[in-house]
Amino acid sequence: MNDKTIPVVIVGAGPTGLTAAALLGQYGVECLVLDRWESIYPRPRAVHLDDEVYRILGRLGLGGQFAAISWRCLGLRLLDREMRVLAEFQRDAADGRHGFPQASMFDQPELEAILRAGLKRHETVTVRGATEVTALTQDGGAVRVGFADPVTGRPDSVLARYVLGCDGANSLARACIGTGVKDLGFAQRWLVVDVAATADIGQWEGVHQVCDPHRAATFMRVGETRYRWEFRLAPGETADQYADPARLHPLIRPWTKDIPAGELEVIRAAEYTFRAQIADRWRDRRVFLLGDAAHLTPPFIGQGMGTGMRDAMNLAWKLAGVLGGGLPERMLDSYQAERKPHALASIRLAKLTGALMTQGGEAGNLLRRLAAPRLHRVPGLREQVLDSQTPALRRSDLVVRRPWRRSLAGRLCPNVVLPDGRRFDDVTAGRFAIVTLAELSADQRDGVRRRGAVLLTAAPGTGLHRWLRAGRADAAIVRPDGAVLRAGRDLAGLCAALPAFGAARFRP
Ligand SMILES: Cc1cc2nc3c(=O)[nH]c(=O)nc-3n(C[C@H](O)[C@H](O)[C@H](O)COP(=O)(O)OP(=O)(O)OC[C@H]3O[C@@H](n4cnc5c(N)ncnc54)[C@H](O)[C@@H]3O)c2cc1C
Repeated sequence: MNDKTIPVVIVGAGPTGLTAAALLGQYGVECLVLDRWESIYPRPRAVHLDDEVYRILGRLGLGGQFAAISWRCLGLRLLDREMRVLAEFQRDAADGRHGFPQASMFDQPELEAILRAGLKRHETVTVRGATEVTALTQDGGAVRVGFADPVTGRPDSVLARYVLGCDGANSLARACIGTGVKDLGFAQRWLVVDVAATADIGQWEGVHQVCDPHRAATFMRVGETRYRWEFRLAPGETADQYADPARLHPLIRPWTKDIPAGELEVIRAAEYTFRAQIADRWRDRRVFLLGDAAHLTPPFIGQGMGTGMRDAMNLAWKLAGVLGGGLPERMLDSYQAERKPHALASIRLAKLTGALMTQGGEAGNLLRRLAAPRLHRVPGLREQVLDSQTPALRRSDLVVRRPWRRSLAGRLCPNVVLPDGRRFDDVTAGRFAIVTLAELSADQRDGVRRRGAVLLTAAPGTGLHRWLRAGRADAAIVRPDGAVLRAGRDLAGLCAALPAFGAARFRP
């Protein structure tokens, strides 16, 4: 037993826990990450992330490494059961508003390897594998984290000021805080097949969505030699039946065509039940839930892992600010207020996408065949389908907006290139920023400097200038996670509303 209180203990070294650790490490916050496995969980699951999530990797200094293991996704193609193209939505080749491709494909264990290796540069972060967390007990100013060696069973514990439960779908942290979980009414069994191919299978490099209630399927290239298929299982079917290559290959044949089976190595064919659920409470005093511990989504829009990484991005700077003494403790309540509605919106969109692909029987098929080829004529639909922008954060102590009024508040400030050639995130470097069209007075400039924030005056013709004008604002306070705290025309009010942050330092 060790009775030194560690500022943050993170339960779970999946993508959510590793991201939270890296972000806290950037602020020099001491944290201990505990995971039951010695090393990376090897089964590939997530294969897609959007540019908002890529931006988090960029913020961690991992953008270049991720570029080397990821594959730009060209868009979305809807197909019928005979593999006829019903509709196609092509993405622009240019990077999106965050400075990265709007959709990237990758292999989750490779991403986790990059995240883990990146932690080595933060001397305040320790990762300890082969450690099964068994209990969280809150007592006044600390949480006792009980754990055991999974092999010897030897028990031990540490004290933490805050605990982040990033321990996945069967979260112990969630059980310990005693929250209910709302089932959002979705359960489908799917066969997930990962294949390595020595030959290029020569398919269009976007997501292929087969819209068929009898055998809905998704196909995408995820890397240089890697391909992913997902097939909805019929009642009574199991993944075991597809362990036999003679049964599996006919499923993927419409894409692999005449490539000999010997050139296609099936890495795994496993069954998953895709679910939709969300925890009622994401915080109990000093324990927080993040990632799959807080929410589960069917993967039809590829957002489960991204939602967890957004949770980490939302909470890490707030914790750093509270631990540094600048932000009041109550600001931590904004975590659930902002993140839960955002996660719920993403789950609802994933469920809707699943329903459009799979429901309605033969009538649904007919409707899709009739409607899909005309979709490109619907004004703005292409942009809607391909736009990676997620909804604005809801109101909280750290998102100030009037109900029902259009505002930049809660939206992400774009990661634009500034006149000196650097990107917005590189200049703001984990601090608050005031972005303004007008010059500030000397007093106002002094106030911004005293609070450790960055001042960016947007000249006409620049990306920030266009962004503020489009949002009908003269200025905005941008938080360390890139979300807008408040925007408007009242420059004096905005300067006065800039919070003191207090995080000790930031190391990119
Ligand atoms: C088939 C499939 C396809 C998917 N595709 C996508 C996609 O394209 N895009 C996307 O964004 N998401 C996708 N997802 C979802 C994504 O994989 C998950 O959302 C993501 O892995 C969740 O990350 P996490 O860190 O929250 O949890 P996990 O990855 O589950 O990590 C939790 C960690 O906690 C550890 N742990 C648990 N309990 C304890 C304990 N008591 N003590 C110590 N350690 C513990 C575990 O060992 C594990 O390492 C997909 C999922 C599936 C199944």
